[in-house]
Formats: sequence, structure tokens, C-alpha cells
Amino acid sequence: MGKMPTLFVGHGSPMNAIEDNEYTQKWKEIGATIPRPEAILVISAHWTTEGVSVSDSLHPRTVYDMFGFPKALYEVVYQPSGSPEHAHMAAALLKNVRIDNSWGIDHGSWSVLRWMFPDADVPVFQVSLDGNASRQTHFEMGQALKPLRERKVLIIGSGNIVHNLSRVNWDMDGGYPWADEFDNYIKDRIENRQFNDVIDYASAGPSALAAFRTTEHYDPLLYVLGASDAGDQLTIVNDSCTKGSISMTSYLYE
Ligand code: ZN
Repeated sequence: MGKMPTLFVGHGSPMNAIEDNEYTQKWKEIGATIPRPEAILVISAHWTTEGVSVSDSLHPRTVYDMFGFPKALYEVVYQPSGSPEHAHMAAALLKNVRIDNSWGIDHGSWSVLRWMFPDADVPVFQVSLDGNASRQTHFEMGQALKPLRERKVLIIGSGNIVHNLSRVNWDMDGGYPWADEFDNYIKDRIENRQFNDVIDYASAGPSALAAFRTTEHYDPLLYVLGASDAGDQLTIVNDSCTKGSISMTSYLYE
């Protein structure tokens, strides 16, 4: 009885949903090589609520929560079923959650999953980010969800470790020095399982102040670290920053 991996994925631009590039090829490769899950739980940067919501719809709607992109992106069809059964398992492991189907599957999920599981034949559900929760609480919720890995649920946190849209440079390939510095700081702490420094990211110094203005793209990482085991093998993929101020660095525990 193996347990499922858990993955933090840097999703970057919504255009990755339809662009065949080095990042999306890696997502495809991961989907093709990990064991097949019975369900996928995504904690997406794009669903923040007051308190914690869990979606248990059997037919979650596709949410096109991005603005000003080419028409082709709004025509992407990715409609997996939900899994009420697994959603209820997740709700039972967390405290003070509500069932809430006002959202659905947002682009933090489908832009990545359509590469990992192109046939949309694995059920997907989301757990929201509580906008009032502390970093420590996000981490502890990841710990609480860890048993789902034994139940063949793939837990994915989808965000970006560096995500400062006000400083994006669309013509730039790599990252600004402060972006690389913060990304590397977090990578070093993750590799050494010094998760307290990841939770208290300000310990990185000035680079932490520039890395993001709000934490919703960072917080999904904490769920995956919480759900990881010291005995897991860690693989780091898409290990780089792009467009100056976006980190694509991703962490797979299996
Ligand atoms: Zn995003």
C-alpha cells in the first residue's frame, strides 16, 4: 500500500494552460510517472475565503478566473468530476470547515491538471485558503490532511513562491536577483526540512519584502510541506524564476 505523492506546483501565467513549454512538459511528465490517484485535492492560490471551504460537488464548474487574456484561454474545456466522498474525508480531517460549492475548479487547478491528467478522468476538489489564517495554521492544515495520501488522494498546492505582479517584466527570461535570492533561500530551508523558516519567511531578510505583496500564492506551499514526510523523496522541478518576479520552482514529495 503505497501512499500518494504530494506536490507544490508553481503555476505562473495562466497562459501555461495552453502553452507547450519547459514547465508544462514537466507537469505532463509528472502526471505520467506518478501512481494514479483516486482523487486530487487542490489548494489553489485563487480561492481565498473567510474561514475554510471545501467543495463537494459531483460536477464542479470550471472557473475562468483570469482577466485580459486571449480568447483561447477562456475556451479551454477541462471538466473532471468532483469527489464528494474524498471531499468529506478532507472536511472530517480539518476543523471548522464548511461545504461550499459557490466556486469550482479555478485556473490554479486546471491550467496545471490539463497537462498532468489530460483526459480529466481523475476527480478533483478544492479546499480554500482561509484569508485570516496564520502561516502556522496553513502548515498545520497540511499536516491534518496528510492521511489523505494513504487514501490515494494526490494533494497539490498550486501557487508561486515568488509572485510580485507589480514588478513583472514580460521580456525577461530569468528572475531579478532578489527573486532568485528568496527562491533559493526557501529551497535551502525546504531541502533541510527547516520548515519554521518557511513559515516565518521574513527570516529571509529584505528579499522577502519584495517576493510578494500578498501571501495567497505562497500559502499553498505550506500545505504540501505539512503533508510531506521526512522519509519522502524530494524532487525539485522547474527550478527557476521567470519574468523577473515569478518563481516556477516546484516540489514533489513521493
Ligand atoms: Zn496564480
